This record gives sequence, structure tokens and C-alpha cells, in this order.
Amino acid sequence: MLECKICGKKVSRLLSHLKKTHKMSKADYEKLFGSTDFVSPELRLSLTAAAYRHIKQVELNLSKSSKRR
Ligand SMILES: [Zn+2]
Repeated sequence: MLECKICGKKVSRLLSHLKKTHKMSKADYEKLFGSTDFVSPELRLSLTAAAYRHIKQVELNLSKSSKRR
């Protein structure tokens, strides 16, 4: 599991936790805490390759849209 550095909660999907609980994007979090793994190793292992590709694509889209200001 990953630990949210904001509230200390253990989560498996940090990205969705950030969005839901803290209304933050990946970029906001990385600004505060530096580059972070957003999917826990345990969860990554349990994902199918397709699901993993989907998550990477979502992360890519998020980082693209956060660069646009
Ligand atoms: Zn949190």
C-alpha cells in the first residue's frame, strides 16, 4: 500500500484518493512531495497488463492537462 503524505492514510490508489479526498491533482501532490509512485506495488502486480496501460494513459493525460495553463 501507499501512504498519503497529506493525511497519512494507507491507500492502494493514491491518485483517486488525492482527487476524492484532497481535490488535488498528481501535479499538485508532486509539487509538494516530489515524484511519487501512484500505484502501490501490490496493486500493480494484481493488475492485468491492459489495466496497467490504462492507468499509465490516465496519468499521461493528467500530466498533459496539468502542464497546460
Ligand atoms: Zn490523504
